[in-house]
Amino acid sequence: MVHYKRSSTALLAATFVLLACAAIIGLDIWRTWQAHQIDERDAGISVTNMARALAQHADDTLKEADTVLVGLLERLRIDGTGPAALERLHRLLAVQVKELPQLNGIFVYDSQGRWIVNSQPKLDNTQNNADREYFIYHRDHPGDGPHIGPPVRSRSTGKWIATVTRRVNNADGSFGGVVLATVDMAYFQRFYDSFNIGKSGAILLGLNSGTIVFRRPLREDSIGKSMADAAIFRDHASKNASGLAIIKSSQDGVVRINGYRHLETFPLFVSVALSHDEVFAEWRADAYMHMVGVLLLVTGFAVMGRRMVAQIDHRSIAENEANEARAQVEKLNQILERLALQDGLTRLANRRQFDVALAREMGRAVRSGRSLALIMIDVDRFKLYNDLYGHLAGDECLRKVGKSILSGERRADDLAARYGGEEFTIILPDCDAAGALAIAEQIRLAVRAQQIEHTANPDGIVTVSLGIGCLTKVKRETSVRDLISMADQALYRAKDEGRDRVGM
Ligand code: GH3
Ligand code: MG
Ligand code: MG
Repeated sequence: MVHYKRSSTALLAATFVLLACAAIIGLDIWRTWQAHQIDERDAGISVTNMARALAQHADDTLKEADTVLVGLLERLRIDGTGPAALERLHRLLAVQVKELPQLNGIFVYDSQGRWIVNSQPKLDNTQNNADREYFIYHRDHPGDGPHIGPPVRSRSTGKWIATVTRRVNNADGSFGGVVLATVDMAYFQRFYDSFNIGKSGAILLGLNSGTIVFRRPLREDSIGKSMADAAIFRDHASKNASGLAIIKSSQDGVVRINGYRHLETFPLFVSVALSHDEVFAEWRADAYMHMVGVLLLVTGFAVMGRRMVAQIDHRSIAENEANEARAQVEKLNQILERLALQDGLTRLANRRQFDVALAREMGRAVRSGRSLALIMIDVDRFKLYNDLYGHLAGDECLRKVGKSILSGERRADDLAARYGGEEFTIILPDCDAAGALAIAEQIRLAVRAQQIEHTANPDGIVTVSLGIGCLTKVKRETSVRDLISMADQALYRAKDEGRDRVGM
């Protein structure tokens, strides 16, 4: 079995299939990466926009409460704190609390922290708020701006509230008490709960000091606690006005995309976070589906490609085999052709080839006007040789004589042939009688030189007799028989004259 090298077409096809598979996989990886980038960007935009909206909302909510306090201060300044004025104020405050949904209550305290008037139906004179953070703050800080304190549990309702307070100044500028508006955390909760931030999303409202005001998901125990150590505050919100940060939570281990922004008016910030896993859930499912699809496609493509390459291989192997078979047939034909024209014993041209060649050379000689010579050769007393040495030795002798006759072929068109039995001949185109004589003499000597034993011959060796026929200016009507009989007669003369010679 001959091993054929893979054809260049098959190699080309295999390379094409490999490149196509690589291109499909590469393109899908690129597409998936692009989709990831887009999802990440969109999540960033989403949390940034939400942080902006929530910061604005918190700012507006607190500003409304503060505006109420500003009006309240003005009224206290003009009307004073007489029983009639406080009664009027009480009614006004009750109405205002009803009007603003975020307001839990409005309170006025004197310089000792006693309750003077508030929005509640009945004033509880026994309460004192001198221990509250905002009370201490305003007592010690003469400034007249609003103050947002840490979230507290309301003494009146028990609910978590944010406090907005302003200092009441006496006419001489000394501390006259505090006005307080409490903002209901439930108001923030309702608003924050209305956003779709997924299962693991988070929203946080915090003081710039790092205290948690409100958060979703709501954990009661975290309100009012410090988040100074949380990465979102420590590394981001405490340093920048707004921004974007991807942070792994130290509490639940969830990676979140955080957008944060500080309020414009009040010292608070808002942070909105979406879970990284949830943001990319759809992308992951999509990428997985794509991967499966691409793998199926590439596998199918590779299988088909393999078959195609195998077919190309098969075809080229078959082609090679056919070529080889053709070459062998051609070689065989050449051998057959040679065998058909060759004498089996002496390997000289056989009688058939001789006949064709002589007819051809006669035609040429007629056309060219050149001479044509023919030598007939006959082994001397060969019957006796056979009798003496046997037929097989006779064959061997003929083979040797054939070799000497072949040496008479000098030109390409000369042809030595076995004429039949122990008779040989040589065609010499474009050769005159003198030339033919020289060649005949050389063949005779060549046979003698072989010194083949033949005790029945006078010299004890095999000899040949030769007869030359030669035509110059060959006429069209001259036949090959004329030339052959001419050489034959010359051969008889050589035999007659005693053999081992050339007859003319
Ligand atoms: P001469 O030619 O000298 O007159 O005597 P001769 O004995 O050679 O006579 P002739 O040419 O008539 O004899 C031919 C003999 O050659 C007859 C035959 O036995 C022998 N012969 C012919 N062809 C072959 C052959 O192929 N092999 C062998 N061994 N002998 C052959
Ligand atoms: Mg003879
Ligand atoms: Mg003879």
